[in-house]
Amino acid sequence: MIKNTQKWLFSILLLANFFFFTSCDDEDNGSNYQPNYAATIDATNLPSANKPMTMFEDTESSSKMYDNNDRWFRVNEPLQVIQKGKDSVQISLYSPVGLTDVKIYAKLPNYNKRFVIYTFSKIPAFHRSFHQIPLTAGKNDYLSETGEPVTIDKIEGFSSGGIEFSVESSDPLFVKFKKIKSSRLVKFSDSYHLNNPADDPNKYLPMNPVLAKEAITMIINFSYAISHPLYYDTFMNFDRYKKEQAATAGTAINGALNWHGNAEDVDGVYDYLTKTQIEQAYTTYIDKRQLNMAMVGGGSAWGGGALASQWESGYVTGHWKGEMSVWSHEYSHHSGYSHSSNLANSGEGGGQQEMLTHFYKYLIYLNDLPFTDPEILKTYTKTNYLTGTYKKPVFTIDQKNPFLLKYKGEGKWN
Ligand SMILES: [Zn+2]
Repeated sequence: MIKNTQKWLFSILLLANFFFFTSCDDEDNGSNYQPNYAATIDATNLPSANKPMTMFEDTESSSKMYDNNDRWFRVNEPLQVIQKGKDSVQISLYSPVGLTDVKIYAKLPNYNKRFVIYTFSKIPAFHRSFHQIPLTAGKNDYLSETGEPVTIDKIEGFSSGGIEFSVESSDPLFVKFKKIKSSRLVKFSDSYHLNNPADDPNKYLPMNPVLAKEAITMIINFSYAISHPLYYDTFMNFDRYKKEQAATAGTAINGALNWHGNAEDVDGVYDYLTKTQIEQAYTTYIDKRQLNMAMVGGGSAWGGGALASQWESGYVTGHWKGEMSVWSHEYSHHSGYSHSSNLANSGEGGGQQEMLTHFYKYLIYLNDLPFTDPEILKTYTKTNYLTGTYKKPVFTIDQKNPFLLKYKGEGKWN
């Protein structure tokens, strides 16, 4: 590291800002320059100046989770870094399990390397805190992404977007987060239950932070599942999956031979999707659209537009057991598919709803989801916050699960 600093003699005047990147060999210390990096931060033990807090505490007011300006995240960025004002960032972890060994990088427009601005030894579950951007505090040394030190003069402040943040971590949980291809924007909206129709006041029910934590856990797992290479392969070759299922059962193929769209079926004639349309359908599942996660209490779950919903039991115990059928159905409505498409419909030998559920259970069986232990939240014990009563969810897999039969314990995403 030190020997590289000699080659690092450069100073770049950045456009609007009068500051310099400098090499690390200031006058008299030559190649012996010892960079002085900022200390590692333990976010479980921060001073009050950082305003540390835990989001979605059981006792927190539901008005916080329904504040869409304050609480939102993208499923592929559960650790969120947002600039606040000219000189600070807000760090939020939307995860029921904390992270270790996290490096947060900054990237400036006129310098081609990212460099570390914070190193965290620990960030606890659902943590939020605020931190001054060290560039605005004074002249400091930083570790660049290629391992050399770089010294940067004080910068008074940053306009919005003037600095880009990114996250790296060796934590195995973070490695799973990094694989998520979906970029859905998750929010909770109180508009559904506040606008309940007079004929069904239970159509939607208000959620609370206890349920929100389960919803966040589930949507990260679900987003990982639909990003999985085995899911992509099955989705793109759904005709093969249907053939194999029929062969295993020793029957003819039941219903449609492949994915088909929203046009009404007429006497077994389907509007089959082309390979290009199937690829587009996959892209639709993982694009960046907004997803409002809600809860129902009436006769049906609902999905469409930003909305996807399910019952309390789905959030509290169902997803831990891989019971993702309802969620998958509503998520498909939210992604634009109607009951006449087997991307939503479960009839005629099953479509997405059935395949995804088998696949999700196989991932739990492989322990190949970010979260597979209901004890991390223990929501089923939190009777004060729940309408129903629940037992600890216990996962079992059907020995006739088509993914288990085909892959026999192989296929984990390495
Ligand atoms: Zn439906």
